[in-house]
Amino acid sequence: MAEMELTAEVPFDGSQDKVQDIASTELIERDHATVARAIYRYTDLAFDWGEGAYLYDFEGRKYLDFAAGIATMNVGHCHPAVVEAICDQARTLIHGAAHVAYMRPYVDMMEALRAVAPGDLKKGKGILVNSGSEAVETGIKLARYVTNRSMIIGFMDGFHGRSMGALAMTASDAAYRRRLAGLLGGVCHVPYPYCYRCPLKHESPETCGLACLNLVEKALQTVVPPEDLAGILVEPIVGEGGYIVPPDGFLQGLREICDRHGALLIADEVQTGLGRTGKMYGVEHWDVVPDVTCLAKPLGGGLPLGAMLAKAELVDAWPPAAQGSTFGGNPVACRAGLATLRVVQEEDLMSHAVRVGDYVQERFQAVKKELPIIGDVRGKGLMVAVELVNHDGSPAREVIKQLIKEMGRRGLALTKCGISSIRIAPPLIITQEQASQGVDIIIEVLRRNEW
Ligand code: PMP
Repeated sequence: MAEMELTAEVPFDGSQDKVQDIASTELIERDHATVARAIYRYTDLAFDWGEGAYLYDFEGRKYLDFAAGIATMNVGHCHPAVVEAICDQARTLIHGAAHVAYMRPYVDMMEALRAVAPGDLKKGKGILVNSGSEAVETGIKLARYVTNRSMIIGFMDGFHGRSMGALAMTASDAAYRRRLAGLLGGVCHVPYPYCYRCPLKHESPETCGLACLNLVEKALQTVVPPEDLAGILVEPIVGEGGYIVPPDGFLQGLREICDRHGALLIADEVQTGLGRTGKMYGVEHWDVVPDVTCLAKPLGGGLPLGAMLAKAELVDAWPPAAQGSTFGGNPVACRAGLATLRVVQEEDLMSHAVRVGDYVQERFQAVKKELPIIGDVRGKGLMVAVELVNHDGSPAREVIKQLIKEMGRRGLALTKCGISSIRIAPPLIITQEQASQGVDIIIEVLRRNEW
């Protein structure tokens, strides 16, 4: 197969007028001099502009975007409808603060969110914030307040953010918590059903009888008094932790446990929400209606915006001043998000995401036998992971780092999830042909026998 050197093939892509006389290396040097190295960098790429499913660096080189700003840019870069909404709102009102005045884009966004929500959440109420972490913390605060209970059960491999409250729930990598012991109290983690690496060593999700649910029951017998359980926080599909799809019955089981103990089911839909998996809310794959949902990432169309949407009776029991935010529900971010949601619906991008996502999975399944480095292929819609393994089946931790850099050199912007999974989360507008080009690059690199 011909080398997919997009870099060499398309050096300037007819967009020379946008090429600046600043080299990426110079920018990176300035960045290193001023920006905390605590920010984990997946790649050495520096981007100047983007359009659709492509990004361009300062030298005008073109990259296919399989990262979408970490599963955020659902309708691609600088979609005209989103740009127009941002400019229109910027000319009208940039900021007002919900504490000071009522604003139309805020209400429009809340109405839009519940219109596409499942079950009782269609009549739900909520609040807009700035990020996924803040949305999660808001959900936890609501749950603790309205139940007047203190404890939350979460899951190992789950990621819920890095601010101190959200971090208390995050359990995808111990490094995030280093030197930070003593986070939010009342938190208990149990294993998530990561069936490829079953924490209970069962062979198949069909025969385990959802043993992971027993661990929740065990926690309720041994660590968390059920009458103290405010809620269970869960990602419908684990995101940062490795795009792990739970077996059928798991989320239904959590719903039943919460109902039995009068606790709330809190779905962290920050990565799964608003279309990426082929449904508006990830929980819809299993017909489960949570009490509380947390959203962010694509919600603001690329601008910072988060939301907590919950059943109306819960939100009505939350008194004034219990929560708030200066920038939460910023009108420009709301308009960008509303335009994004409209495009997702009008262009039926959820069905498209399923078609292209299935195609991507089939391509990797087809070469899995020939490439033992591929341990597992999984996902839903355009939330796809290809888990890389060493000869002994252990996660190929070092290989994934080198691979991502190599993909960047070949014109593919990419990140990882879990310990060693290639994360494929492009904008939902990506065509099958573009997706196929990206898959070709990955397979070509995986075929090199030095891994
Ligand atoms: N929850 C989930 C499921 C996420 O994937 C993330 C971000 N990767 C967060 C919460 C935190 O979001 P943010 O970075 O916007 O705070």
